[in-house]
Amino acid sequence: MSSTLESKEHQALRAAVAALGQKYGREYLARTAREGGHPDELWADAARLGYLGVSIPEEYGGGGGGITELSLVLEELGAAGCPLLMMVVSPAICGTVIARFGTDAQKRTWLPGLADGTRTMAFGITEPDAGSNSHRITTTARRDGDEWVLTGRKVFISGVDIADATLIVGRTEDAKTGSLKPCLFIVPRDAPGFGRSVIDMELQAAEKQFELTLDEVRLPADALVGDEDAGLLQLFAGLNPERIMTAAFAIGMGRYALAKAVDYARTRQVWKQPIGAHQAIAHPLAAAHIDLELARLMMQKAAQLYDAGDDMGAGEAANMAKYAAAEACVKAVDQSVHTLGGNGLTREYGLASLITASRVARIAPVSREMILNFVSHQSLGLPKSY
Ligand SMILES: Cc1cc2nc3c(=O)[nH]c(=O)nc-3n(C[C@H](O)[C@H](O)[C@H](O)COP(=O)(O)OP(=O)(O)OC[C@H]3O[C@@H](n4cnc5c(N)ncnc54)[C@H](O)[C@@H]3O)c2cc1C
Repeated sequence: MSSTLESKEHQALRAAVAALGQKYGREYLARTAREGGHPDELWADAARLGYLGVSIPEEYGGGGGGITELSLVLEELGAAGCPLLMMVVSPAICGTVIARFGTDAQKRTWLPGLADGTRTMAFGITEPDAGSNSHRITTTARRDGDEWVLTGRKVFISGVDIADATLIVGRTEDAKTGSLKPCLFIVPRDAPGFGRSVIDMELQAAEKQFELTLDEVRLPADALVGDEDAGLLQLFAGLNPERIMTAAFAIGMGRYALAKAVDYARTRQVWKQPIGAHQAIAHPLAAAHIDLELARLMMQKAAQLYDAGDDMGAGEAANMAKYAAAEACVKAVDQSVHTLGGNGLTREYGLASLITASRVARIAPVSREMILNFVSHQSLGLPKSY
């Protein structure tokens, strides 16, 4: 990485996080997932070293950095084989939204815990009947005196079991016009009426996905984050970091798989030369490396724009970075598994499960097609088909 693109501090952070990641590695995460546990030790270590809270404002115990630093942390943990998925939602979405738009009380209540890792927050927007079309969400918040009453369903929400609360995206019922507006509510894990059932995913990951039911969940007035009328703006303030962090997740995973494949191709010999000397093996690995580097450049651009306060510019770049990183990750993993021949499918070498895992970034938090739609319409000005 050229020093003109990354400061000495960032390079030092990268090296320090990589060292922590190597201490744990993929085997730690795989074992944790197999045993049905959570990567608590890694989470606590990363928190203690200030990595989880690097983007939270200093006055609330964070590092005072931005999404640039947070995405760097996630990428390096991923490259070491032990990414922490909850970083995408807890500090990146929830921490950012609360820091930017929360009330003073919400900031005091949540940010120190999100920064030091003692508290975690999940994020729920996806609904079974809305999917990619978030404008169709129907989770509704009704005012009842001083309280809010939330009703609705969510699906594929990660980490609800380990999170102290979930930031739920709903709509308020506008009494006068009957129109609906997106709003963010902090729903504690054990709130009465807040039900969850685990979805049986084909993913080898410690973080589980849940279907949620909100059955007349009563919340105090201060469960609403920020301003009822600024819902959309607040939501996007969280969604851009989510996309940048998903890019980091994908780039880290791609780098991990590629490193394993390169290592293998250097030494595995079935003819006169190691298989890495065959261009049919070497070139796709080189191309995968180039794609990952390019995706990282776009991710850094998106993070820098976001941290500089350019929400609009960051929106386009974050979408492009997420797209590029997911595609680069899927290709890198595919080529890496292939490079190992039969060993690519053994549990011992641990790459096959990444075939499924790498697809996540292509689907979530916004699918490849929806990004292509966004770029077609917003960047290129092409007409819409839907
Ligand atoms: C592992 C995992 C973790 C997740 N964690 C969370 C979480 O923590 N919180 C949360 O809120 N959500 C989470 N999600 C949900 C995720 O964001 C959604 O799966 C995603 O937004 C896609 O929605 P969908 O699955 O309903 O697909 P659909 O919207 O049904 O789309 C299905 C397919 O149709 C395509 N498609 C749809 N509309 C169009 C169109 N107009 N043009 C072209 N193609 C189109 C899509 O690209 C996709 O390929 C998670 C998902 C996964 C897999």
